[in-house]
Amino acid sequence: MTNQCRSLYVHVPFCLGKCPYCDFYSAAYSEEAADCYTAAVCRALEQIPFPAGPFETVYFGGGTPSLLGGRRIGAILQKAACFSILPDAEITVECNPCSLTEKNLKEMYSFGVNRISMGIQSASNQQLQLLGRRHDIAQAAKAAAMAQAAGFSHLSFDLMLGLPGQDEPEILKGVQFCREHGAEHVSAYLLKIEPGTAFAKKGMASHCPGEDAQADLYLFAVQTLEAYGYAQYEISNFACNGRVSRHNLKYWDCASYLGIGPSAHSFAQGRRFHFPRDLKGFLAAENVWELCQDDGPGGGMEEYIMLRLRLSEGVLWEPLEKRYPGQNLKQKILHAAEMLQGSGLVDRNQKQIRLTPQGMLVSNSIISMLMPEYQEETES
Ligand code: SF4
Repeated sequence: MTNQCRSLYVHVPFCLGKCPYCDFYSAAYSEEAADCYTAAVCRALEQIPFPAGPFETVYFGGGTPSLLGGRRIGAILQKAACFSILPDAEITVECNPCSLTEKNLKEMYSFGVNRISMGIQSASNQQLQLLGRRHDIAQAAKAAAMAQAAGFSHLSFDLMLGLPGQDEPEILKGVQFCREHGAEHVSAYLLKIEPGTAFAKKGMASHCPGEDAQADLYLFAVQTLEAYGYAQYEISNFACNGRVSRHNLKYWDCASYLGIGPSAHSFAQGRRFHFPRDLKGFLAAENVWELCQDDGPGGGMEEYIMLRLRLSEGVLWEPLEKRYPGQNLKQKILHAAEMLQGSGLVDRNQKQIRLTPQGMLVSNSIISMLMPEYQEETES
């Protein structure tokens, strides 16, 4: 375990409009706001109060980071390079198909960005309209082609599952779209109606498939993605040719990382921190790190087990015992797993314990059953 933050997340809180299902922190975009924000992030990078670098991964998430454009993303990367960015670092920018231009893509590539994550969401124009997206499927195909022409070989597409009226042929169409348009990585998320969103206010939950139908759609998506060469490596993430998201793997492995921007989280020196969802405050602060709130200790044994069980690889016994020596964790977890014998939800062997795709559907309850703490409670 190292305290050095070797991954950097930059939250870009601008969108062209609010999608009705989204509860990420974002504000209206303007050129002026984007310039001020870039300056604030660069200042924050100069003032990092934690041991950081060299960076192995940098991730621009949002919001819509592609709105910043290549020049501003380049300025932030230049500043981050003061801590050194490894030559083989994975540098990702999340992009919206309708905010990509050839010029921006070429600029981003020239500044070292080497991975594009695109919010495609669906290969059905009807579904895209329902989701309030600003792009249609033809624009998504064009954006993917432009990214490849600019030099990007590592493309990741997001797909949404469990949408109102969605059926298996539509999911198949989405997966085929990913394959045909060069994605080596797919994130496939079940739509969750978050409180406070426009979808929640409209009562959209009642139009979504019920729990069983959602489960069927998820399992169909897992099988279809596998059939098209995308191996599942996390509950919602799939990759071909081993092109996993190295950045997200750091989160699931409980590694230290820095997050900059309103609503961004960090895990540094064994503690978790977050910035308030307040763009104005972030722009006005002389030292943004003074706004950063301490959420207490993180990376404990339970959190580690919980995060690792999200991965298809699951909990590997050897690193677990090395990380938390003398606690007999392997025996405790295996003992708890006996309750699940024959359920088809977990798979255990000499090397690891992991959830099956069926287990991943009910991951929260299984994970808590496997926790040594749960076991102690039920025995007492
Ligand atoms: S573009 Fe992305 S971040 Fe912005 S509102 Fe839509 S879903 Fe949310």
